[in-house]
Amino acid sequence: MKRILIILLFINFTVQAQEKIKWPQHKKAVIVLTYDDALESQLNIAVPQLDAAHLTATFFLTGDINRLTIPRWRALSKRGYELGNHTIFHPCLSTDDNPVPSEKYTAYGMIREIEVMNHFLYAVDGQIGRTFAYPCAETLAGGKDYVDTLKKYDMVKYARIGGDTNAVITDFKHLDPFRVPSYGLEDGTTGNQLIAFVKSTLKHGGMGVIMFHGIGGDYITTSAKAHQELLNYIRDNQKDLWVTTFQKAMDYVTAASKPAAHSAKVQ
Ligand SMILES: [Zn+2]
Repeated sequence: MKRILIILLFINFTVQAQEKIKWPQHKKAVIVLTYDDALESQLNIAVPQLDAAHLTATFFLTGDINRLTIPRWRALSKRGYELGNHTIFHPCLSTDDNPVPSEKYTAYGMIREIEVMNHFLYAVDGQIGRTFAYPCAETLAGGKDYVDTLKKYDMVKYARIGGDTNAVITDFKHLDPFRVPSYGLEDGTTGNQLIAFVKSTLKHGGMGVIMFHGIGGDYITTSAKAHQELLNYIRDNQKDLWVTTFQKAMDYVTAASKPAAHSAKVQ
């Protein structure tokens, strides 16, 4: 009898492992729009486009916010947009245009900076439960990977890394919530390239996270036209697409990819 139970359990888990995730409201895929570095072109161009399309998004802010922009970011949070943590000083491996080198950091120094940015963001929006995006999509402090250290401190729930057009997530059982891949755009990515990524996400029934920087300005710029074309495509396919914040999407996939309660009880 015990052996039969074990076999049944095995079959049950195998079937579950092969099952595709079921998205809410019979949607076929989820798209998460994320915008890094607290850039003003996001406030001036991306947000009005998102508002007009009735879509939401996640903005990963650095300490590069001030008395003029803080009220604007705060207003976004009140309207359901997510403000995420992208550190205070954006430490990355040394380059000419990067003033704060991550080589000089320790893992603990990085963690402290993320913690203080969490306090800063709490002062901006009063929210608890914060998500994180690694600066320059790098996970190094002092040349060593700090992801495991970050996991030990209970200060962010999920963290986004980089990736390319293959960053569509389909294997949620093996998804590391502190290494969630995203499609990191290059300067001048076109509307068609963005739409191709959404189509690929739809085809695979997965989760597609897009990492934007400037929209119609600033740097690593996606033109206002390309951004609008993407939003138009999403709106035209909203029957099949769930567009939500990084935190809400990850909360959903984390809960949905846990083994079903009845399977656990059989033991
Ligand atoms: Zn950044």
